[in-house]
Amino acid sequence: MDLKKLAARLIPDEDLPSLSDCERAYPPRSLPDGAEVTRLAPSPTGFIHLGNLYSALADERAAHTTGGVFYLRIEDTDEKRRVEGAVESVIRSLKYFGVDFDEGAEIDGENAYGPYYQRRRAQIYRAFAKDLIERGLAYPCFCTEEELDETRRLQTERKQITGYYGEYAKCRNLSEEQIYSNLDAGRPFVIRLKSQGDVSVKHTFRDAIKGSITVTENDQDVVILKSDGIPTYHFAHAIDDHFMRTTLVIRGEEWLSSLPIHIELFKVLGFPLPRYGHTCSLMKVDGGTKRKLSKRKDPELSLDFYRAAGYYPRAVIKYLMTILNSNFEEWSAKNPEKDYKQFPFSVSKMGKSGALFDLDKLNDVSRDELAKLSPGEMYDFLCGWVKEFGTDADRQHFANREYIESILALITGAGQKKRRKDIVRAEQGVRLMDYFFDDTFAPAYDFRFPKESVRAMLAGFAELYSEKDDNSAWFSKLKTAAGAAGFAADNAAYKAAPQNYAGSVSDAAEVVRVAITGSPNSPDLCTIMGILGRERSLARITKAAASL
Ligand code: GLU
Repeated sequence: MDLKKLAARLIPDEDLPSLSDCERAYPPRSLPDGAEVTRLAPSPTGFIHLGNLYSALADERAAHTTGGVFYLRIEDTDEKRRVEGAVESVIRSLKYFGVDFDEGAEIDGENAYGPYYQRRRAQIYRAFAKDLIERGLAYPCFCTEEELDETRRLQTERKQITGYYGEYAKCRNLSEEQIYSNLDAGRPFVIRLKSQGDVSVKHTFRDAIKGSITVTENDQDVVILKSDGIPTYHFAHAIDDHFMRTTLVIRGEEWLSSLPIHIELFKVLGFPLPRYGHTCSLMKVDGGTKRKLSKRKDPELSLDFYRAAGYYPRAVIKYLMTILNSNFEEWSAKNPEKDYKQFPFSVSKMGKSGALFDLDKLNDVSRDELAKLSPGEMYDFLCGWVKEFGTDADRQHFANREYIESILALITGAGQKKRRKDIVRAEQGVRLMDYFFDDTFAPAYDFRFPKESVRAMLAGFAELYSEKDDNSAWFSKLKTAAGAAGFAADNAAYKAAPQNYAGSVSDAAEVVRVAITGSPNSPDLCTIMGILGRERSLARITKAAASL
């Protein structure tokens, strides 16, 4: 068969680049030895999730700890499944988490290996598909959806692997006559790889993350160009990873099953295979057993969850680092002042199977990270969340930066020897401040002591209170009021005969605390009253007494 003629008939485009043009247009990058070129290559068919962020962070770290390049490629070959806004969402999410690209779709800077949208690279794929046809390594397939369904049904019935291979590859050996008569009849066709593989042959493959694995040769005649002339992901990614000079492909382990196809594609295309590292899935403990995080069951898989809940992005990243490299935690504890970017990240140290994602642990990391912020930095962080996700009342409250910062100085214990770690994430942190504002102060008073003593305590303390008092003067007044109201004025006396008192000094303080904050637990009450000011503090005491 005249394959050149066939190729020209199947792919008649006259403006295709030559293969050597492509090599010249996308030359090897000049980077230092050992520099990794990595990419995030999402299909804009949905929204990226925590698993993608985990891989992206590994990509970014692998590139940036070796002086390499991390780029964004949009794999938009599947027009039917395209989701509006998906590209913007990827870019926005990664930016939010501080995972920075050097080049790629919508990224400013050196973009010499573009375009980075696959749909804009159609001519390159078509040139290579044409070359494969000319070399007898690809052929047209005219099978209809119905025929393929029927094959699949038969294979399932026979308990065989499904797909287009061996005796099931009906169009693999069509005669020249059959092909041209199909073409003349205008029957739609796809271009398939004419696989040279043999499933009885197995190879040892070195995965950059999983180590040595066994890979079976591919024998599937996979589609490389769809009937609309657009390539499939398999074909496009091989060509792009070659011409964008990717050295290391980090991607989810769900792609392991496609690896044999990819190995064969690189081989027939004559490209050296990049290294591949397949990341393990993120798991969680659920009812005593480990299972994969699931889109349906686990809101924490979605990246929007972290933004809406106001997680501190750096904390999420630091926590992901602890999952990526198990020695990160120890390094971080030894180097508390160092940025995670200074950590000697290593792909080979990544977990080989099931990484456990634990929200409680993330919360701990988050507390620690947030405790490093000054009140001003904390204000900026919380305010960012408030603007996007807060209530109208929150926005109004945050208009008063000075007031919020004074609250934050207290809540975070800034400047004190031991910082408080009450704030885990913005949503919870903002709610923690609700009682500092009259419109969001909604106490459900719950006094555990006899009404008379509570009333006396509140009235007595209100009488003595002065906003000019320092902490110790404030406390001695509290003790005085406590004694007068039937509480013990000192702890030793209370311990000796608790039955003689309405409660201890701390119980008396609790009465005032509940009146002022609505809760039996709070940071330093004297400071809280100082922030609220005399008038509001006394009004709250009156209100609480009236509730009895
Ligand atoms: N476009 C593929 C995806 O949607 C990327 C797979 C890869 O990284 O090779 O996940």
